[in-house]
Amino acid sequence: MNWGLSKKNNISVILFILVLVIGCVFISSCNYSHTSTQPSSKSSRPAQTVCDKEGHKWENATCTRPKTCSVCGITNGVSLGHDFVDNICTRCGDYDKPVYIVEKNQTRSGDYSIFSGSVENFSTRSVEFVKIKLELMDEDKKILDTDWTYAVGSEGLRPGAQARWELMYNDAGFDWKYWRVSVMDYD
Ligand SMILES: [Zn+2]
Ligand SMILES: [Zn+2]
Repeated sequence: MNWGLSKKNNISVILFILVLVIGCVFISSCNYSHTSTQPSSKSSRPAQTVCDKEGHKWENATCTRPKTCSVCGITNGVSLGHDFVDNICTRCGDYDKPVYIVEKNQTRSGDYSIFSGSVENFSTRSVEFVKIKLELMDEDKKILDTDWTYAVGSEGLRPGAQARWELMYNDAGFDWKYWRVSVMDYD
C-alpha cells in the first residue's frame, strides 16, 4: 500500500512540475512572439500588410511581365511572351528582327553549282528549321527554277548566332544568268 501510494505521489509531483515548466515555456514564448512580430510587421513589410487586409491590386500580365500586384510587387504566373505576326508583336508593337543571310558565295564543281553562305539570327528568341531558298533567273530576272535547304534544323539558332548553309544544284545543260538566296521560313 505504502509503496503504491508513494509511487502515485511521485507521479503527480512530476506531472505538476511538467505542467509548470510547459506553462512557463508557453507564456514566455507567447510574450516573445508578441513583442517581436508586432514592430517588425509594422516597419519592414507595410505593403504586404495592406495586401493581406485589402487583397492584391493585380495588373494584367504583359508580353514581358507576369500578372503583378501594383502595391507589393508580388507576381502570379508567367509573362505572355510576344505574339509576332510579320515580325511585329500584335500586343505591344515590339519589332522582332528576323533571320538574315549575312554572307553568300557561288562556286562550280563538275555539273554542280555550289551556293553557300551564313545566316544570322537578329531576333530576340531562338529559332529552328531555318529554310534557305535559291532562285535561278534568266537575263530578264524571270525565275526559271527554285531550290531550298535547311541552314538550321531542330538544334536551333540562338539570338545573335550564325549558321553556315550550302546548296548543291545540278545545272548541267541549264543556262541561268542570275541567282538569289533568301530566308524562306523558320519556326
Ligand atoms: Zn500585393
Ligand atoms: Zn509583345
